[in-house]
Amino acid sequence: MKSILIAISRWSCLLAVLMLAGCAGSGGGNGKPAGVERLYVMYCGEGSAPDKSRWTPGVAANEKKPITLSNSCYLIKHAKGWMLWETGFNEALLGMMPKGYPTPVLHWVWKGQKTLTQQLADLGLKPADINYVGFSHAHPDHIGNGSLFTNATLYIQQAEYDFYLDPKSKPPSPPANWEKLRANTTVKLQGDYDVFGDGSVTILASRGHTPGHQSLLVRLANTGPVLLTGDAVHFRDNWETPRAPVQNFDKEATIQSVEKLKAIAAANKAQVWINHDAAQTATLKMSPAYYD
Ligand SMILES: [Zn+2]
Repeated sequence: MKSILIAISRWSCLLAVLMLAGCAGSGGGNGKPAGVERLYVMYCGEGSAPDKSRWTPGVAANEKKPITLSNSCYLIKHAKGWMLWETGFNEALLGMMPKGYPTPVLHWVWKGQKTLTQQLADLGLKPADINYVGFSHAHPDHIGNGSLFTNATLYIQQAEYDFYLDPKSKPPSPPANWEKLRANTTVKLQGDYDVFGDGSVTILASRGHTPGHQSLLVRLANTGPVLLTGDAVHFRDNWETPRAPVQNFDKEATIQSVEKLKAIAAANKAQVWINHDAAQTATLKMSPAYYD
């Protein structure tokens, strides 16, 4: 296993994120970040579940109310290479189960109408062309295709790696092919991290849903800052009124992380894109269209 253990080293950039100042190296003369050229939103499956109240404890109106959840992957074209954030549910498994893949914990069913591999091919890319991979957390709907990207450096919180990927760990719901991810060059993080050192893409630690959940702030020249929440929240209701779904690893940390993300989003005037919020996802441009 190739592994790079690093101590978190770019706290100065987090401070800049909070202060709306941008980081060293970002921006041309107009103050816009120079690093990220494009952000593609890719379809990475969709889910349905019979009881929304599991994500919204205390909201009686949601009991036995069915929900659908979108699932997106995000492809970032940076001057230093291609980065994929989130990898979706394992497309080979979905392909074998056209009626959907049932997951026992939340009684939901995942389906996939088209594969991530095909959407990359539509852009002229192979999985081997991806240089950097990260996901919000190691649940099957986010990590499922991670092992396709064998040339990529993997960015993951140390706590998430230890809980789900360490050879000695016994994760409750091991994702398909997850052992293969250990072969990737891995950067284990202990907090926020400026991926390219220019302030354009910042991983934000947001534990709670899982031990090492993380979110992503992407600065785009024309679109402006975009915060990709991952599963820090699952839909807008839980952003407006932070709640911890019943299945979350640490409920108190969940609330603290949402408050942290809300402060960063407000300070940066960032758009907030919630991965599983189907209503919001329906309003986004999907690949091959892109944001710049
Ligand atoms: Zn999820």
